[in-house]
Amino acid sequence: PFAIGTITRDVRKQKEDARRLLEARKKADAANRSKSEFLANMSHEIRTPMTAILGFADLLQDSVGHDENQYLIETIQENGRHLLQIINDILDLSKIESGKLQVSLLACSPSELVAEVAKLMRIRAQQKSLDLTTEIDSSVPTQIRSDALRIKQILINLVSNAIKFTDQGQVQIRLFGDPKSHQLTFEVRDSGIGISASSLTELFQPFHQVDGSDTRSIGGTGLGLAISRRLAKRLQGRIEVSSELGAGSRFSLVLDLAPEDWIQHPVRTGPK
Ligand code: ADP
Repeated sequence: PFAIGTITRDVRKQKEDARRLLEARKKADAANRSKSEFLANMSHEIRTPMTAILGFADLLQDSVGHDENQYLIETIQENGRHLLQIINDILDLSKIESGKLQVSLLACSPSELVAEVAKLMRIRAQQKSLDLTTEIDSSVPTQIRSDALRIKQILINLVSNAIKFTDQGQVQIRLFGDPKSHQLTFEVRDSGIGISASSLTELFQPFHQVDGSDTRSIGGTGLGLAISRRLAKRLQGRIEVSSELGAGSRFSLVLDLAPEDWIQHPVRTGPK
């Protein structure tokens, strides 16, 4: 009877512990949700006047022409754009965290997505005299069913980082797939400053920037990779990274597609 009593007490204690843990988890989830909602509301409220400030700064610039005070307007524009970028990033992050981010899955061409991103980013690469190249493997499906806008957002993030952290050499976007597993990979490779093994694990934390005077002076919000990783997850994918300090980095967006979302149109051989 003594032993049975002890067991009963143990079971009761375990149940009580489990109940408390569940309660604590629920409270933490609720607190997290209100934090995300607060951030989303706040960013939304700041965005409207910020957009107006930028709009009027643009108008002012047009009207003063090449005045000696132009740098003042440019400083307003530069800082305004940076602030707007931070606000948009926070808004995105909080939307994802509070489960409010919608993804719309539609048919899109992955190779066209790569071409569009390369076209968009080429000017920035040229400004730093970097080669921006693309390589599309023949294993890539003609279409996939996914969210084209979100894939582009992730790729733009990865490519703009690659350009930001590379001073010479090249940035390459490679697209390849595995028709058996329906895994599609968008790889962004650079010959830039690289990342140390100890920093790799922290890259995806919000606001994290690798310490070191040059990375911080380059600017940015430290939110790009945190958002990209969460977006990738929403698209049934992930971001993989490998890097070597001083040699360059490779970031990949890997999508695990369902067989029906991997659409391979037959190759046209022309009229017979
Ligand atoms: P941001 O670029 O706005 O600072 P991210 O979240 O996109 O924020 O990146 C976080 C940090 O990871 C960067 O500040 C930088 O230190 C490091 N990083 C990201 N991409 C690269 C890259 N291609 N090469 C070297 N470091 C990188």
